[in-house]
Amino acid sequence: MKAVVYQEPFKVAVEDVPDARIEDPTDVVVKVTTTAICGSDLHMYEGRTGAESGIVFGHENMGVVQEVGSGVARVKVGDRVVLPFNVACGFCKNCLAGFTGFCLTVNEGFAGGAYGYVSMGPYRGGQAEYLRVPFADFNCLQLPEGEEHEDDFALLADIFPTGYHATELAQVSPGETVSVFGAGPVGLMAAYSALLRGASRVFVVDRQPDRLRLAEEIGAIPVDFGQGDAAEQIKDRTGGEGTDKGIDAVGYQATAREGEEQPAIVLNGLVESVRPTGMLGVVGLYLPADPGGPTEHAKKGELLFRIGKFFEKGLRMGTGQANVKAYNRKLRDLIVAGRASPGFVVSHRLPLDDAPEAYERFDRREEGWTKVLLKPGS
Ligand code: NAD
Ligand code: ZN
Repeated sequence: MKAVVYQEPFKVAVEDVPDARIEDPTDVVVKVTTTAICGSDLHMYEGRTGAESGIVFGHENMGVVQEVGSGVARVKVGDRVVLPFNVACGFCKNCLAGFTGFCLTVNEGFAGGAYGYVSMGPYRGGQAEYLRVPFADFNCLQLPEGEEHEDDFALLADIFPTGYHATELAQVSPGETVSVFGAGPVGLMAAYSALLRGASRVFVVDRQPDRLRLAEEIGAIPVDFGQGDAAEQIKDRTGGEGTDKGIDAVGYQATAREGEEQPAIVLNGLVESVRPTGMLGVVGLYLPADPGGPTEHAKKGELLFRIGKFFEKGLRMGTGQANVKAYNRKLRDLIVAGRASPGFVVSHRLPLDDAPEAYERFDRREEGWTKVLLKPGS
């Protein structure tokens, strides 16, 4: 079958790889109809993670069940399903508590598994014609038959629940004000989720005009950090106080490349932007190691976080991979009911063969390349 295979930094290719197949009785194989490229793939693509060449990318997958293992009870051939990016067992301590992003079974020595991601276990990615899904009764979210809402549903694998998770970590409540740093697909989903939860004003910080425009279209307030310090702009518009809550949807990559001895991170801007006793939700990725980093500190993931200011303001913070399964059923039902349409972030729907070019252009954050969906069947 054809798949998107990582070659070396800034290079992927579409190659023939062995077919996905049932390996354990609890597996299913899904024929992939839509698989998205994520900002998280860019950490590997840009060579920041030490990913080995030959791995198949793709953790945002949906499709139709092609084959089921003998131990699968609920999922049937022909079911239309979306797969949370977290591979999880469903029966460990963390899964039982709803923390499926931190499953203790699927990835030995590390909490949490994912498809097609370095250090997240042996699970091949779904930027391919077929995908093996382990513990399938737990890991498949069933969708209405047909082709309706394909863009919206594809985003249930990761970025819509991840954006929602950010608002859950920050406990965004009706009437509150929120600062979201990053207007990439994840930041836009976080802003959208904050508005769904009834936030009164949501500021979205970036410097890319096309992404800021999308933020404005959904009812958020764009803040261009190219025009001056973002925290100052937000404080100016909130009577000097700052917002109630804050979300980091950028992660470490944005500033780790500036070549500072010990690079500062976006999170410090959020500490400035949020009022004393506010809460922060951090979903932008901070990987423990950055072998491609510009300095020794960055290589070890030791980035400068201003804990003093954080303490002085009595802030609270939640971090980590999204527990997609905790939210995706209710987010699916909002889509089905016509109450949520996260597909507004999708800019491109392309055949799998176009993946190398799509990676290049999304990585350069070219104007208009917000979210790319690959269609292996086309
Ligand atoms: P992206 O790279 O497309 O978006 C990042 C955005 O941040 C870009 O638009 C960029 O212009 C902007 N930016 C850069 N520096 C900034 C700064 N100083 N202030 C404000 N904005 C700045 O990626 P994405 O797909 O939106 O993902 C965002 C982050 O979320 C990545 O780190 C990704 O790995 C992570 N992620 C986490 C989870 C999770 O479960 N926690 C899931 C998916 C993605
Ligand atoms: Zn993703």
